[in-house]
Amino acid sequence: MNAHNAARDASARPRVVIVGGGFAGANVSHALQKKYRLFDITLVSEESYTTFNPMLAEVVGATVFPEHVIAPLRETTRRAQFVMGTVGRIDFTRKIVFCDTLKGEVEVPYDELVLAYGNRARVDLIPGMAEHAVVLKTVGDAMHIRNLVLRRLALIELESDPALRKCLGHFVVVGGGFSGVEVAGAIADSLREIRRYYPRVAADELKVTILQNGDRLLPELPDCLGEAARRSLEKRGVDVLTQTSAQAVAARSVQLDGGRTLDACTTICTIGTAPNALTARLSGIALERGRIVTQADLSVAGVDGVWAIGDCALVRNANGGLAPPTAQFAVAEAKHLSRNLIARARGRAAHPFAHTSRGMMATVGHLKGVAQIFGIRLAGLPAWMLWRAYYLSQMPTFGRKLRIFVEWTWGMFFPPDITHFRFTRSHELLRSDQTGVMPTQPN
Ligand SMILES: Cc1cc2nc3c(=O)[nH]c(=O)nc-3n(C[C@H](O)[C@H](O)[C@H](O)COP(=O)(O)OP(=O)(O)OC[C@H]3O[C@@H](n4cnc5c(N)ncnc54)[C@H](O)[C@@H]3O)c2cc1C
Repeated sequence: MNAHNAARDASARPRVVIVGGGFAGANVSHALQKKYRLFDITLVSEESYTTFNPMLAEVVGATVFPEHVIAPLRETTRRAQFVMGTVGRIDFTRKIVFCDTLKGEVEVPYDELVLAYGNRARVDLIPGMAEHAVVLKTVGDAMHIRNLVLRRLALIELESDPALRKCLGHFVVVGGGFSGVEVAGAIADSLREIRRYYPRVAADELKVTILQNGDRLLPELPDCLGEAARRSLEKRGVDVLTQTSAQAVAARSVQLDGGRTLDACTTICTIGTAPNALTARLSGIALERGRIVTQADLSVAGVDGVWAIGDCALVRNANGGLAPPTAQFAVAEAKHLSRNLIARARGRAAHPFAHTSRGMMATVGHLKGVAQIFGIRLAGLPAWMLWRAYYLSQMPTFGRKLRIFVEWTWGMFFPPDITHFRFTRSHELLRSDQTGVMPTQPN
């Protein structure tokens, strides 16, 4: 890209190109900009914002707005260049990243390349999943599920068949890990709160079921916190089915192992991730389980000046085992890699990545959470507040922190928003006026 080459002529600083503006990439960009005299930094990401994935369940539950779980990347790239684009291929020999942008394909040359483009949701783990289930990975997914919940309630109001009413009101969440528990709790709380606006929907026509193939929820956390999550969900009417897995999903049912079938029009799958297609197009680097294998210092063997972090990378932690694909580790790897890049720019050696987990947290619904931090176990409101405080601390700029704090606090005391955003455009309305048929909506 000309602009990049011009920048190169004017400066001998190493060109650092970061692919992916998620937790990992945005934190590298942020840390390196503090040493902006050392680097010429370019961040390339397909969206113009970082998504706080752990908060997506709250968007589903309509306790926060979508804008409250994202951070615009341009706000934090004042000393870097931001390119909104999708990287489709990389030439490791010529050291060029090719990305598809609003202007077509753009070439971005690099000296140091940071791969931090995360992974994708897997949609084909169970027969029928791709056609009939929804997944939660992006803000778009979260808004879609939120609208789906509101449409189901609107449909129940209009439906006279009692069996179909119950089927429409049944939400099945597949997966009892962090996102499954978070989304099941968020939907249960949201249904309880918003039912008041749907007077022809009875409480016993609404139900949430969570399926977990293991013997308890939240296997990443200690037993007692998994048990606390179960109690909290059950107290709010969620049916928790452990040792149960979904075998097939259809438009109005979920088939379980053991032959049982649940009648439900909405299935939300929170299991499984798939590698980003870009990974398969990278030649000459080692992959394991669809992730880029990194060396101890987070560099990638066999290609000069390439580093990988976050969910797209398989990172070995010098403190033991593999680094888990979590936000906490993505941030820790980003900070460590930034220190290594600074060391390299100053002619010093890079260090192996080592991080000791500070703990784990999850929400179990609105104002409820479970956490283990520095060995201390918490449940309920304190855990939820700690969880919120952590993600607030990750928001960039004081102005955004303050705004989000005020808006999140507002949301704590008022019922969820039931606005059904349809983004209907005028030409669709004009067509609808002609035909008398309402603009189509995905189910
Ligand atoms: C619903 C959900 C709930 C979660 N809950 C928790 C939790 O409670 N606790 C926890 O620790 N972790 C949680 N996680 C996991 C956590 O979000 C991830 O581990 C973390 O986001 C990884 O950061 P990353 O930067 O590697 O990837 P991501 O945050 O996914 O960022 C990758 C970025 O790269 C961009 N990108 C992708 N492909 C390209 C391309 N070809 N070109 C340019 N840009 C590209 C993407 O748009 C994205 O911005 C959750 C994840 C989900 C989906």
